[in-house]
Amino acid sequence: MKDKIDFPIYRTKRDGVTRRFNLNDPAERKLYFKAKLGPQIAIIKKFLKKRAFVAFLIGKKNTGKGTYSKLFMEIMDGERVGHLSVGDLVRDIHKAIADEKGRAELAAFLKDNYRGFHTVEEAINLIEGRSQEKLMSSELIIALIKYEISKRPKQSLFIDGFPRALDQISYALFLKEIMGYGDHPDFLVFIDVPENVIDERIKYRVVCPICKTPRNMRLLATKDVGYDEDKKKFYLMCDNPTCNKARMVPKEGDELGIEPIRARLEADHQVFLQLLTLQGIPKVYLRNSLPVEKAKDYVDDYEITPSYDYERDSATGVVSTVEKPWVINDDNGVSSYSLLPPAVVAGLIDQIAAILQNNKHR
Ligand SMILES: [Zn+2]
Repeated sequence: MKDKIDFPIYRTKRDGVTRRFNLNDPAERKLYFKAKLGPQIAIIKKFLKKRAFVAFLIGKKNTGKGTYSKLFMEIMDGERVGHLSVGDLVRDIHKAIADEKGRAELAAFLKDNYRGFHTVEEAINLIEGRSQEKLMSSELIIALIKYEISKRPKQSLFIDGFPRALDQISYALFLKEIMGYGDHPDFLVFIDVPENVIDERIKYRVVCPICKTPRNMRLLATKDVGYDEDKKKFYLMCDNPTCNKARMVPKEGDELGIEPIRARLEADHQVFLQLLTLQGIPKVYLRNSLPVEKAKDYVDDYEITPSYDYERDSATGVVSTVEKPWVINDDNGVSSYSLLPPAVVAGLIDQIAAILQNNKHR
């Protein structure tokens, strides 16, 4: 049985901001954030010029952690903020040590920086043996995070994928000291996304066989849509001009949605619940969805994720796209809308500004 999570709804509606913004357009997004969160953005930018923060992104797989971090970076235009995904990091190192030079470089770093129960040789074999971080010891993962940070200029960081298991939580509490960020603030960012949202994002995703651009039949349509007479199904055609309207295809297994990753989602959820009880570290609460009946009071309609259906005129064969708000049941069974990423990031900016302002080392 799932413990219920019911984070406060963040109000993005602002008195006096009546114009609509096209949130898919970067220039419009800039205006949107300025209109809704100008003072908070100024607070964060001022902080970033002199100091850094460490934010742990806590949420299930496929909750959009990378998307939210990248939007935050976009808003801070060029200030030093980075996204560090532990999963990507392990995969990159796995690739890098395939050649002698990369291997020697990592070995030298581990010799000076890794403390744990493996020899350096064993540690490298462990990384080589698997392309994912699971089953690697926390001590080794921490050494790899340090390795990655040593290659970047000092920047604020969104850490994605750590802590991933209950036994990593106490390491996370002291990670900023281990990383050499001791004087800088850290905080946890909880992202609550209904399982039905994750499920449909997986179920309906398609990819261009040529340029690999991802789209989603229900949630992110292309300009041109076709109809397959034999299968009686609609399909998306790649927008990329060089792909010549290639038919986008689903990935094998995606039709199962979250079923294959259910155990992983449950493990993520347990870590999430445990971290919610932590004391002494500031917390940011984000929710991807809000009840349909409350939407009008809290958000503007262009902030709600649309869904797409398709209709075909049987006489002419012309396919048209029908857009309407996407309605799903959240994990508590409440009929809900899902917010577009910028509207979730609005809550992130507001809460981070408050944390940085209250930080005593400011
Ligand atoms: Zn393409």
